[in-house]
Amino acid sequence: MLTILEHPLAADLLSVLRSKDTEPPEFRQTTERLGYLLVAEALSDMSTVEIEIETPLESTRGQQLRRPVVAVAVLRAGLGLLESVLTLVPDAAIGFAGVQRNEETAEPIEYYTKFPQLSSAKVLILEPMLATGGSLSWAIDKVKENGAKDITAVCVVTAPEGLAVIAAKHPDVRIVAAAEDRELNTSFYIAPGLGDMGDRLFGTL
Ligand code: URA
Repeated sequence: MLTILEHPLAADLLSVLRSKDTEPPEFRQTTERLGYLLVAEALSDMSTVEIEIETPLESTRGQQLRRPVVAVAVLRAGLGLLESVLTLVPDAAIGFAGVQRNEETAEPIEYYTKFPQLSSAKVLILEPMLATGGSLSWAIDKVKENGAKDITAVCVVTAPEGLAVIAAKHPDVRIVAAAEDRELNTSFYIAPGLGDMGDRLFGTL
């Protein structure tokens, strides 16, 4: 299931990210701010348990998240959304999925993975640019192999081609994104997109 965030603030923040004139410090901060909206939406289907709490005035009933949250950052662009998760859910456990794409074939090449306990958690996979779907599909396979059952991908921009791949291979995975763009270009970049997310976050060339 795909949810495209319909929110004027998200549209405003995404436009800042798209502009080629946005430098890394503002780009990082804007990604984090957009991340709050995306992560809040990604967690909107979580169930809660009722708890008893004491206000300064009286006893009342409150709610607590029923299950732990795990964020898996797909390296390296996924790091841009990590702080948003940790600010909203400070006790979230964090995993890492290190994958590089072969620049000619766009096939994923694994170089590092490390996961916390996934089987009882709500697992958010942080993959800001869903282009071919190769890296995200690979990361979903990895977290499933490690027991994840409730998986949501948090993306900034998606391409129709990548969305089709995930819908075909992982129809059980929810995707929350700020935009579905027009297409992938011949170099596997999303158009109109925002360029290379990792380079723009970290100032690399
Ligand atoms: N990864 C990026 O960072 N940008 C794209 O447009 C596609 C993949």
